[in-house]
Amino acid sequence: MYQALSHFLFTDKEELFQNVLTQVAEQFSRAFKINELKTEVTNRLAMLEKRVELEGMKVVEIEKCRNDIKKLRVEMASRNNSTFLEDTKKLTPRRDVPSYPKYMLSQQTIDALKKPAFDIWLWEANEYHLSKETVEALRFPTFDSWQWEPNEMLSCLEHMYHDLGLVKDFNINPITLKRWLLCIHDNYRNNPFHNFRHCFCVTQMMYSMICLCSLQEKFTQVDILILMTAAVCHDLDHPGFNNTYQINARTELAVRYNDISPLENHHCAVAFQIFSQPDCNIFSNFDPEAFKQIRQGTITLILATDMARHGEILDSFKQKVDNFDYTDEEHVTCLKMVLIKCCDISNEVRPMEVAEPWVDCLLEEYFMQV
Ligand SMILES: [Zn+2]
Repeated sequence: MYQALSHFLFTDKEELFQNVLTQVAEQFSRAFKINELKTEVTNRLAMLEKRVELEGMKVVEIEKCRNDIKKLRVEMASRNNSTFLEDTKKLTPRRDVPSYPKYMLSQQTIDALKKPAFDIWLWEANEYHLSKETVEALRFPTFDSWQWEPNEMLSCLEHMYHDLGLVKDFNINPITLKRWLLCIHDNYRNNPFHNFRHCFCVTQMMYSMICLCSLQEKFTQVDILILMTAAVCHDLDHPGFNNTYQINARTELAVRYNDISPLENHHCAVAFQIFSQPDCNIFSNFDPEAFKQIRQGTITLILATDMARHGEILDSFKQKVDNFDYTDEEHVTCLKMVLIKCCDISNEVRPMEVAEPWVDCLLEEYFMQV
């Protein structure tokens, strides 16, 4: 009996002891967990502080760039004549419609609208036209792209292909042209800078150079088609992060193209993926040899937009420019490369109120890389 009791008591004590031990162990582990938690929170806080600091630096740097630009402008104004000052006065952002009508309804539509029998299903066929003022304005570098919506810019691009005689000379299906342009629009991303409006501006500058410099007298229509098409496609599916970022971050694009112009190679590849869809292939009437020529020419021009190759391309051009020969294919290709490069960075030659908003867009996109 005593033995049984003592055994019971012993077991009871042992159990109690075990319980206390477990509790102490739990307390310890909680204490450690709290410590772990504390360390984690401290680490996270430190990370957040670092991020806030970095973001702050970004803002400071953007502000610094803006101030530098302002200073530069004041300095230029003081050196230049008063016309520059007049330009800067007009700098307040003015995002309204042009002073001239953008479109005109065809006479057929105007007449049809007056009748109760107006058939809305046919309306698109009667269509509206860009006004003659728009058509004229499009030929100059002063054109203000900020006043135009994406669908309107598409109509303008379409007009350029018709106006340059490309649709007629190459027997391009006008509906395919519309579909191709729409597909181009869908394949530009909404980046602050490298977006569809940038594509439009570069192409419109190319168009105005062709018109103002009478390039159609010097170049073949194939060259004109290559110049325009390369401009339209030159930044397709731009992800908003530059080549340096792609290479340093070892992105999929950098790996795919072995660090050699990853973005420009990608723009080309997307362009020709689009052409591989029969609905969007404006070159479907071309024989294989002509297509090969257009493809090669377009690729050469898009790849030339990589600023890493700026020095090389410019040096090659300088060597040719004194004895320039329009019959020499190498000379012509080099000039086309310089032309697309000029158009790509042509915002600064536009009127101040058109050029200015692009600076903010560029800075915004640039600081995304940090
Ligand atoms: Zn570009």
